[in-house]
Amino acid sequence: MEQIFEGLGVSSGIGFGIAHIRESGSCEITEYCIPKQHIGDELVRLDKALEASRDQIAKLRQKSKDLPEAAAEELGFLLDAHLHMLKGSRLVRGIEREISENGINAEAAVQHVLNEISESFKQLDDAYIASRESDVHQVAARIIRNLCEDDQAPFSELAENSIIIAEELTPADTALMDPKKVSGFAAVLGGPESHTAIMGRALNLPAVLGATNLVGSINTGDHIIIDGDAGRIVVNPTEATKHHYLKRAQEYLERITQLAVLKDRPAITCDGVQVTLKANIELPVEIDNVLDNGAEGVGLLRSEFMYMNRDTLPSEDDQYDVFKHLIERLEGKPLTVRTLDIGGDKTAKSLIDDFGDSICSPLGMRGIRLSLNRPDILETQYRALLRAAVHGPLQILLPMVTTVNDVRQARRILHSVASQLRDEGYELADYLPPLGAMIEVPGAALAADALAQVCEFFAIGSNDLTMYTLATDRADEQVAHLYDPLHPAVLRLIQFTTQAALRNRIPISLCGEIAANPRYSALLLGLGIRDFSMSASNIPKVKERLLEMECAAATKRADIIMEQTDSTRIAMLLDDFSDRGNV
Ligand code: PEP
Ligand code: MG
Repeated sequence: MEQIFEGLGVSSGIGFGIAHIRESGSCEITEYCIPKQHIGDELVRLDKALEASRDQIAKLRQKSKDLPEAAAEELGFLLDAHLHMLKGSRLVRGIEREISENGINAEAAVQHVLNEISESFKQLDDAYIASRESDVHQVAARIIRNLCEDDQAPFSELAENSIIIAEELTPADTALMDPKKVSGFAAVLGGPESHTAIMGRALNLPAVLGATNLVGSINTGDHIIIDGDAGRIVVNPTEATKHHYLKRAQEYLERITQLAVLKDRPAITCDGVQVTLKANIELPVEIDNVLDNGAEGVGLLRSEFMYMNRDTLPSEDDQYDVFKHLIERLEGKPLTVRTLDIGGDKTAKSLIDDFGDSICSPLGMRGIRLSLNRPDILETQYRALLRAAVHGPLQILLPMVTTVNDVRQARRILHSVASQLRDEGYELADYLPPLGAMIEVPGAALAADALAQVCEFFAIGSNDLTMYTLATDRADEQVAHLYDPLHPAVLRLIQFTTQAALRNRIPISLCGEIAANPRYSALLLGLGIRDFSMSASNIPKVKERLLEMECAAATKRADIIMEQTDSTRIAMLLDDFSDRGNV
């Protein structure tokens, strides 16, 4: 029977395929002995997995409140029972005993206790108890998954046209999806500006996040349609539904073909103002898409993706090879590399042990703070970058800058790395690459004049700027309705930063997701931005919008918008400007 689930459409397009459920606890369990002196560590590892499991269930519990009353109540009871089992229950006590008394690893201990409990349930031969047994299995599977989270099978074994369905997908998981095999994905958790969503858009995979009640309702092998625009997941569609979506997919393709003719046309408004449209990339494979869409360079390479899905840090040569390859493919168009911006929803195994929970907090050890705390990491990136800069134009962008001192310290390290390289006999470019700052922290925006004195360029990161200004987690679907880049406070910070850059005569671009949406183009242009960077596939749509726009009219409209105090009115003024064709 056809079923429909609703969520947030985070990556456009229609995907057809077969469900692949990313199961909890699907990793293979091997049993091994834990030496006596490491038993304490193993118990700590178990504790962490239990805590992660409790956090996940608490999140699901919160989300279940969005469901209709009866379903919310039923799911609530079930999740409460799961939570209870994760605190000092027979299951947990048994696992701890297996580890401390029998000296085996935590995963195997979970499996032993699960077998024991299942055996005792079987002997009772009671339907109610049998249903409780399945709960114990689910809880045990969750603990195991959290224990061996690092070894989760990636998506390499998938058949073509798979649609991934999961409770949660990290940006690193998404980076492993091969668009030749995966036709889309959906998850219960995740917000529209999360890096998982951004990765979906980068790979052109239709995606829906924040879809309550998804897991458990879909089985591997079900036929799925993902509508990444409407935020809909259709399970086992009827013939009529399939027909409707095939027609929509066809229209979507026709629109892309229509826009492709703009590829080599410069983005010049009706009144002759030229705008530069560059691409944001995460993975080197995206470079074909960058060139196919006529990008005028890469405005943001999120270098942190090179640190994900691996146990060790990437070496200088690993990084140099990637940067050199991209510079060569760009044939003279600039490459802007952002130094490591691990933190928040993007984590790397190789750094978790050093920084612990702080790395996962959006207010913790992330971006340039982390690089200055571990100068060895920054030095390796700089070495690779300076060596690559010999092959073509390159700019270095620092993430999460908060103070003038962040930039000063980062620049000092850049100079010292350059002289080390020269001492080692490397020939470097005559001038060191320009060093710029992401303006994505409200404090940095307000200090833009001072920062402009120490930077060679700015790039506004409106994704984080919106998140921090409005205290709204961009990756949390529950507050997605509060995440609003049209909030007057966000717009004032963008305007102030832009004016500071113009006053101090340094180039400024905007590389947050609003650059990719033609809805915002008039406002950004009106605020004085002439350089946008976005996921490559969006360039033609934004270009089409700019070509029909009058910059003078956009500026007037932006002036009116900046007098407003209410984002609903701002949205209306903006949409009305587009609908009436710029007047
Ligand atoms: C931003 O914050 O707007 C940005 C471009 O960086 P990221 O999305 O990678 O945080
Ligand atoms: Mg950012």
